[in-house]
Amino acid sequence: MNSEDFRRHGYEVIDWIADYLDHADRYPVMSPSKPGDIKALIPDSAPEDGEPMDTILEDFRRDILPGVTHWNHPRFFAYFPANNSGPSILGEMLSAGLGVNAMLWQTSPAATELEEKVMDWLGELISLPEGFHGVIQDTASTTTLCALVCAREKSTSFAVNAAGPAGLAGAGPLRIYTSREAHSSVLKGAKIAGFGAENVVTVDIDENRAMDPLDLEARITADLGDGLIPCCIVATVGTTGCTAIDSLSAIGPVAKKHGLWLHVGAALAGTAAILPEMRWILDGVEHADSLVLNPHKWLLTNFDCSAYFVRDPEHLERTLSIRPEYLKTGRDGEVNNYMDWGIPLGRRFRALKLWFVLRSYGARRLREIIAGHIALAQEFAGWIDGADEWERLAPVPVNTVCFRWKPEGMDEAALNAANAELVDRVNAEGTIYLTHTKLDDVFAIRLAVGQRATKREHVVAAWEVLKRMAGGIKAGS
Ligand code: PLP
Repeated sequence: MNSEDFRRHGYEVIDWIADYLDHADRYPVMSPSKPGDIKALIPDSAPEDGEPMDTILEDFRRDILPGVTHWNHPRFFAYFPANNSGPSILGEMLSAGLGVNAMLWQTSPAATELEEKVMDWLGELISLPEGFHGVIQDTASTTTLCALVCAREKSTSFAVNAAGPAGLAGAGPLRIYTSREAHSSVLKGAKIAGFGAENVVTVDIDENRAMDPLDLEARITADLGDGLIPCCIVATVGTTGCTAIDSLSAIGPVAKKHGLWLHVGAALAGTAAILPEMRWILDGVEHADSLVLNPHKWLLTNFDCSAYFVRDPEHLERTLSIRPEYLKTGRDGEVNNYMDWGIPLGRRFRALKLWFVLRSYGARRLREIIAGHIALAQEFAGWIDGADEWERLAPVPVNTVCFRWKPEGMDEAALNAANAELVDRVNAEGTIYLTHTKLDDVFAIRLAVGQRATKREHVVAAWEVLKRMAGGIKAGS
């Protein structure tokens, strides 16, 4: 592609994205595609000769778009959000244009130094105490894996790194403590890092579905009595099911007392801490060794952008750094080489899009947007609370409401089935998109408010669709 064609198609693509951002609500939120629909439209082999970009873009619109679920649709209430925004997209484009690999300071000093600065900005926005250092990674799952490996090396004095599985075997069973509401990435990380699934200890939860610190202490004490090796606590600020907030003020002293690593998973809810009135969710974070929050979830920044903060970067580097001759530079020791702060060698220039977002919106506007989402979720929770035949199933500390339709005369099994059918019907209709979880054995519908373009009218629409669809099920239609 020559630069003239690039320019022409580039303008065309930007125009398309600008229209899309304004009118994503023209599409059904969840793709109506059935398995195999899209594959059937794509040839079995790559073309031998290049094709015109006009044709490729036309195929994108005709064949690919129907298979897209519109995460930035204002009526997307499923899972947790994956935000984007104009400034973020522009930053992402420049990053793609530069095509930088930010593995070493030397491979793009600006990428490293901007990353240091925007992570400091972000830490300040959420009022992290002094002494945390940040690095941008791809996902929260990766950062949790890093935290588990760091915890493993701390409690074995680097024996596992040195001796491999023999080191792990010599150390004895290393135990990880997390609540049963914790994200699946904790278990996945434990498996990858060699702890073993059975060494992930499930701590009880309290009436707010947050980790019970007394049960945590009891389980650590019991493990010590059994000759097992407590290693790491993973607390969650904003659980994926219902955004329960584990108390870092209560968990932190337990970690300190037993000398355990404390990792805080705040992938979604950490963003809420930019609001002074929500900063309480991170009270006690001074006890943490590491923390993750995802600007790609709720801070208007395109996937992927996961902010990982650590207390002791030297420990992180010592755990992960491998320096073959071909990666040595004359500046080592003087600068951050972020390849040593995470798992992959190659790294994208992600700081650019976060920088664009933080500068373009400014802290005040970001606070307004996040506060607006939280207020809408609270209002929706009030509608559920005030309605006959609907039940809220968990507190709503942040932006996610767990609830169910509860018509009279149904037992628990029938209620679960009716609510599953309700979610299916709602999503098939395409006006809104919702997903579910199970709280204990209860099927819970989740409504998470967090899209850049979501306004009150969209949440009102969600409530109307839910009531209409529930009415249809009741009427047997
Ligand atoms: N931790 C929590 C609490 C989450 O809610 C999620 C995703 O929803 C994750 C981790 C995983 O995030 P990622 O996709 O960035 O790995």
